[in-house]
Amino acid sequence: MIVMKFGGTSIGNAQRIQAVAKIVASWQKTRPVVVVVSAMNKVTDLLVASAESAAKKKRTSMNRNLKQLRRLHLEAISGLGLTKPHEQALLEVINVKFEELEQLLSSVYIIGELSPRALDAILCHGERLSIHLVTEAIRQAGLKAEALEASSFIRTTDQFGAARPLLEESEKLAKKAIMPLLKRSVTPVVTGYIGSTSDGIITTLGRGGSDYSATILGYCLGAEEVWIWTDVDGVMTADPAVVKQAHTLRRLSYNEAAELSYFGAKVLHPLTMVPAALKQIPILIKNSFNPKAPGTKISEQISRNSHSGKAIATIGDLSLITVQGKGMIGVPGVAAKVFGAIAAQNINVLFISQASSEYNISFVVAADDGQRAVRILQETFEPEVKLKLIETVRLEEKLAILAVVGEGMRGHPGIAGKIFSALGNSGVNIIAIAQGSSERNISLVIKQANTKKAVNSIHQEFHLAKP
Ligand code: ADP
Ligand code: ASP
Ligand code: MG
Repeated sequence: MIVMKFGGTSIGNAQRIQAVAKIVASWQKTRPVVVVVSAMNKVTDLLVASAESAAKKKRTSMNRNLKQLRRLHLEAISGLGLTKPHEQALLEVINVKFEELEQLLSSVYIIGELSPRALDAILCHGERLSIHLVTEAIRQAGLKAEALEASSFIRTTDQFGAARPLLEESEKLAKKAIMPLLKRSVTPVVTGYIGSTSDGIITTLGRGGSDYSATILGYCLGAEEVWIWTDVDGVMTADPAVVKQAHTLRRLSYNEAAELSYFGAKVLHPLTMVPAALKQIPILIKNSFNPKAPGTKISEQISRNSHSGKAIATIGDLSLITVQGKGMIGVPGVAAKVFGAIAAQNINVLFISQASSEYNISFVVAADDGQRAVRILQETFEPEVKLKLIETVRLEEKLAILAVVGEGMRGHPGIAGKIFSALGNSGVNIIAIAQGSSERNISLVIKQANTKKAVNSIHQEFHLAKP
C-alpha cells in the first residue's frame, strides 16, 4: 500500500483535482492507495487572514476573505462536471463546513481575541473542505472513495499550531479507521495537516504539515512507500526561484532531506522524515504536473560519491544575538544561562556559534523574537554587566542562514574553503559559521540582501547545475 499526498497547488482548481483523481485511479490498479490532501492552494493563507481580521474586529476584510474562500471552492465544484445529485450532495457538505467556519470567526470577532487553539479550529477547515472535492473527483474517475478527517485517528500533543503526533495511539486508531476501507477497495481521502488531542480538540501540525501527516499515516499503516506529489519534479539542488540552474536530485538520505527542509527548503515539512525513518519507509517526491518524471527518492541509503555539497537551502528573516565579554572566558555555565533564559521564553534557536576564545556566544532566532531575546538576556545578565564581566548583548537584524548539505562532505577537507572562496569572490561577507559534528551540513549567517548572490555562487562553485 502507498500513501500519496497531494499539496495545495496539485489541487488548486477543478482541472488539477481531476488530474489528481486520474493519477490515483491509475496507481490504484496495482496496489491500494491512501490519499492525503492539503487545503486548496491559498486557502490556508486566506483562513489565517480571516482569523486575524476577525480578532482585530475588521468585519469587512473578514467577510471579503470568506467570500473569496467560498468562491474558490464553488468554482472548483462547478468545474468538476458532476451529475446534479452528486453536485448537490457535495454543495450541502461544503455549506455545513462554511457555516461552522463562519460561527467560529464570529466568536473570535465578538471576543476580539485569537488563541492558538481557536486558530487551529479555524485553519483545519481548508483540509476539511478539500477532502470532499477530491473524494468526488476520485469517485467520478470510477473508484470507490471516502473522505476522512484525521482528527479522529491522528492523536497529537496539545501544542496548538505545532502539535506532535502520539504515534502508538495513532497507529491503533488509524488502522481501525482505514484498514476496513482498503479491504473493501475503498480509497480513503484523508485531511493532511490536522489531528486532535485525546480530548478531541483539533490541532494542526504547523504550516506545510500535510507532508508530515502523510508519513505519520505511512508509519501507522505500515505503508510500502509514501509519495509526496507537488509542483516541482523533486527536491532540487536549490530553491528554483533563487537559482535558475537548480536541478532535481534523484536520491537523498533521510538526514539530508531533513536538514534541507529544516534550513528552509519549503518542498518538505522538516519533520516529514521522522516517522518514515523510524520504519524505514522510502519517501518519493513527485510532480503532479509532470507525473512521468522519476522524482526524488528519500531513504536510509547514503550516497557519498560526490564528496561535495549536494544542495543548498536558506532561511531569511532572522536576527543574530551576540553575548560578549572578557568575563565569560573560562566561566562554566554561561551558555546554560543564555539558552536557559531563551528557552524559558519559548524562543526557538536556529543556529549557535561560539569562538574557542569563549569571548562571545552568538545565536540566531526569528526576526520576530530578536528584540525580546535581547531584553531577556539584558535582564538575565544584569549583575554580570554591572561587574563589567559582560560588555554587550548585541542584536543584528535582516540576516539569513545559508546551509550547504550533503552526506558526501563528511571527512573531505576543503569543503568550507570552497564555500569561503565562492563567497569571497562574489563579495559576500560571512557573519558567523557553524558545522554540525555530523559534517553533513555547513551553515553560514549572511546578510539577507546577499542571499541570492551567495546561493548562486556556491551552486556554481560546487558544479551543482545540470550536467
Ligand atoms: P505543496 O503545495 O505541494 O506542499 P510547497 O509549495 O509547499 O508545495 O513546496 C513546493 C515548493 O517548494 C516548490 O514549488 C519550490 O518553489 C519550493 N522549494 C524551495 N526549495 C526547494 C528545493 N530545494 N527543491 C524543490 N523545491 C523547493
Ligand atoms: N494547508 C496547510 C498549509 O498551507 C498544510 C499544507 O499545505 O501542507 O500550511
Ligand atoms: Mg508544502
